[in-house]
Amino acid sequence: MKDKFSTVSANTRWIVGNGENIQLWFDNWMGRSLATMLELPKHLFPSLKASLAFIITDGKWNIPRIILDFPLVAAQIMQVTLPVSPLPDKCAWIHSPNGELSSKLAFQFLNPAPPNLDWATDIWRPCIPPSHSFIFWRFMLSKLPTDENLQLRGCTLVSMCPLCYNQAESSTHLFLECAFSQTIWHWLGIKLQRSIPLASPTSLLTCIPQRCSSQLRDVLLPLCTQCTLSGLLEMQSASMQLLLPFT
Ligand SMILES: [Zn+2]
Repeated sequence: MKDKFSTVSANTRWIVGNGENIQLWFDNWMGRSLATMLELPKHLFPSLKASLAFIITDGKWNIPRIILDFPLVAAQIMQVTLPVSPLPDKCAWIHSPNGELSSKLAFQFLNPAPPNLDWATDIWRPCIPPSHSFIFWRFMLSKLPTDENLQLRGCTLVSMCPLCYNQAESSTHLFLECAFSQTIWHWLGIKLQRSIPLASPTSLLTCIPQRCSSQLRDVLLPLCTQCTLSGLLEMQSASMQLLLPFT
């Protein structure tokens, strides 16, 4: 529980009542702590022990001169509503509609739902060979062993696109940006009479109409995956040619 304290602090906010349980300088009672807003030096922290009640008099804000010297901060404090009659302060979970932190909400926060992969059902279809689906799946999740991904895992290597020799090798470059790949996508666009969005792997599949017959989808999807794989096939061919002189 102790190691989650900073997480809880970052996701809670005080609803101001009488101010007696709120630390004036360090608690979050208006979006950020006063110490953060005023960028106070850390060596002052041990001496800042006032509660928020210190600047509340008879249910109204009584902002001291030291804060009034920062008009924007003072104005933000004035916008915090004080209760008509004294109420205890309340600590609220900012992700809950009523401020209550239930065990269900805590579990959901610590175990967020996996991202919605709408495209997954399109990738794994009987019309696409499973080996192609697998490679396309890895491409969509940026899990292919490209030079870029190997470098991210700590491998030290010089990277060059084996298709154009102009850029470093990454999934995005190989399959979407490389002149070789763009020629293929352009060809496919002409055949399908529609533009192929190449902004990202996910956008690639948006060239397939949302509402189309399953037969048409069964034609378009293999075309997309096959066009993606053609880059890999060309790379294999280029690698073999490079190796030939040494065999
Ligand atoms: Zn290239």
